[in-house]
Amino acid sequence: MPDVHALLSASSSKRWLHCPPSVRLEEGFPNESSVYAEEGTFAHEVCEYKVRKYLHERVTRPQSEEYYTEEIDQITDVYYEFVVGVIEAMKRNGPDPLVLVEERVDYSHIAPSGFGTADMLIVGMDEDGKGLLHVCDFKTGKGVFVDCDHNSQMMLYAIGALHAYGYIYPIEKVRMTIIQPRLDNISTFECSRKELEEWGESIRPTAKLAYEGKGEQSPGDWCRFCRAKPVCRACAEEALSLAREEFLDLDAGALSDDPAGPDLTRGDLPVFKQPGLVPISELSAILPMLNRISSWIESVFSYVSAEAINHAIPVPGYKVVEGRSKRIFTDTDAVVETAIQNGYTDLYKQQLITLTEFEKMMGKKRFTELLGEYVAKPPGKLTLVPEDDPRAPVDLNHAMDDFEALE
Ligand code: SF4
Repeated sequence: MPDVHALLSASSSKRWLHCPPSVRLEEGFPNESSVYAEEGTFAHEVCEYKVRKYLHERVTRPQSEEYYTEEIDQITDVYYEFVVGVIEAMKRNGPDPLVLVEERVDYSHIAPSGFGTADMLIVGMDEDGKGLLHVCDFKTGKGVFVDCDHNSQMMLYAIGALHAYGYIYPIEKVRMTIIQPRLDNISTFECSRKELEEWGESIRPTAKLAYEGKGEQSPGDWCRFCRAKPVCRACAEEALSLAREEFLDLDAGALSDDPAGPDLTRGDLPVFKQPGLVPISELSAILPMLNRISSWIESVFSYVSAEAINHAIPVPGYKVVEGRSKRIFTDTDAVVETAIQNGYTDLYKQQLITLTEFEKMMGKKRFTELLGEYVAKPPGKLTLVPEDDPRAPVDLNHAMDDFEALE
């Protein structure tokens, strides 16, 4: 569940650890929910329901006409099966583990007023009979792979859990797992209790800076969900200086000023100070920053547009107009009746229901028996991603024909 009330929330910790003042800078901006966040909250409720049911607790299945789909059932099953696997394994290793679902953890001894809600805490024995804390976190996102390796959100949850249970249970090792089924991502990171506690101590000064709104603004991929992004000066300066340095360094002229160079008045071909075309090696060097900058540009447009449209704030050089719209029927019953009365037929289209709808109608087993042989999963569209993305690279020499190439 999102840590909606904590100033130094675990889920935004990557941001405040890199850019401490961001916590206070975004305070004046509303924390608006999105359909993705609401869907994520519902999916977490389904996960919680499934695990509590397995634990024989009295629970009511969460309902949502808007967000319940077969796919939500499938991705929450992936989480459920993983978590139950961890619990069952710990049962085999020793006494029954302590299992806590949607547990509030407090790490304010490290980060002022810091707390959060861990999806799952399991405390028991590992395969070698050593005390183990396992923290699990479910993610519904499908835009960005979330790696668990030294993931500060997970480590803060673990620090909070250690603070609460580390005195009662002989925890020696800490294991953390992120389950992100929409990207087939189950990522685990393990460290000793000592390493975790040392890391906690190491971030204490930065957490204090963040709480006090001090430190330096520092743009990076952690800006993604920062509410101050559209008006962040550090982001604006980064984007504009990149544009100036890489593409628009024309103040001193783009052409070579070598006196022995070409004579343009005689029709010689011009020679540029730098080659006129940027090679792919240079473009690839700025790719990571471009992603960030395009997201910043988008946030600036949407922020300024919202201010102009919703609050009538004048934007010099711009005006608000009506966009293009499509014609619609105002009364479909009357349309059908009128068309039939005038002799028109074939007013409706028939469409095959989707694969997921078939599966829901028949049940997984019957669906596989009857239609399994007609189901295929074509390869996805080729996409360029950073090297640290956990997916295996495609062998382009052999596989090009199977994939849809990017136009
Ligand atoms: S948008 Fe600005 S304030 Fe927010 S994290 Fe990025 S650099 Fe910091």
